[in-house]
Amino acid sequence: MRLDKFVCKSTELSKEQAIRAIHRGELSVNNEVVLNEAHQVHENNLVKLLDETLKARAFRYIMMHKPAATVCSNIDEVYPSLFNGLQIEKPSELHIAGRLDADTTGLVLITDDGRWSFDITRPEKKCHKVYRVTLSRALSEHQAAQIAEQFAQGILLQGESQLTQPARLQRVTQQQVLLTLTEGKFHQVKRMFAAVGNRVIGLHREQIGDVRLDIDVGQWRYLSQDEVASFG
Ligand code: URA
Repeated sequence: MRLDKFVCKSTELSKEQAIRAIHRGELSVNNEVVLNEAHQVHENNLVKLLDETLKARAFRYIMMHKPAATVCSNIDEVYPSLFNGLQIEKPSELHIAGRLDADTTGLVLITDDGRWSFDITRPEKKCHKVYRVTLSRALSEHQAAQIAEQFAQGILLQGESQLTQPARLQRVTQQQVLLTLTEGKFHQVKRMFAAVGNRVIGLHREQIGDVRLDIDVGQWRYLSQDEVASFG
C-alpha cells in the first residue's frame, strides 16, 4: 500500500494532510525518513509518524441496498450520493465495486480495498452479477428462449467491437427476467435489451458472486469474513 494511504488508514489525517506530513519529513519507514508519498509500505514495515508507531486499520467491506434516484459517486449531481446514507468514518476513502445507474436499485458492494474490488469488476474473473429486469414488452416463452440463446452466444452492442460475454437469461414472468452477467459494460443490461428490441423499465441487482442482497432498501451492513473471502 502507498505510504499516504497507510497514513490515512492509521490516523485521522486526510490524504492532503498525510502528504503534507510526509513532505515535512515526519514519516519514517523502518527508521528511515521517507519523503515520497507513493513509497510502498508492506505489512511488516515499522511506520512512524514522529515518535508514534502507526498501525493500519483493517479494510472495510460493506453491502448496501441502493435506493432509486441515488448516484454511485461521492459527488451529489442531479441525485444525492449513495454515500449520504452511509454514516461511517472517512466515507471519501470508500469506492463502489461495480456502479449502478441512478434509476437502478439493489446490491452495491463498497470498500476501501482496491485489490478486492478489482477482482469483482474485471471481466477475466468472471464474477457473476444477477439482475432482475422488468421489460416494457412482454416476452412469450418462445421469445425468451430465442433471446436467451442470443445472450448465451454473446451479442454486439452499439459502439462496441467485441461481443458481450456469454450471459444467462431466465424468464420469471411475461415482463420479468433474471439476467446473469460476468462483466459490467456501461449501461450493459439496458443496451442488451435495446439490441433485441425491448426496453428495460425496472432494474434491480440481487446478487454479486455468492453474496446475496438480504437487507432493506437504504440499509447497509458489513460483510461477513466468508462473504469477503468468497471473491478472489
Ligand atoms: N446495466 C445497466 O444498464 N444499468 C445498471 O445500473 C447496471 C447494469
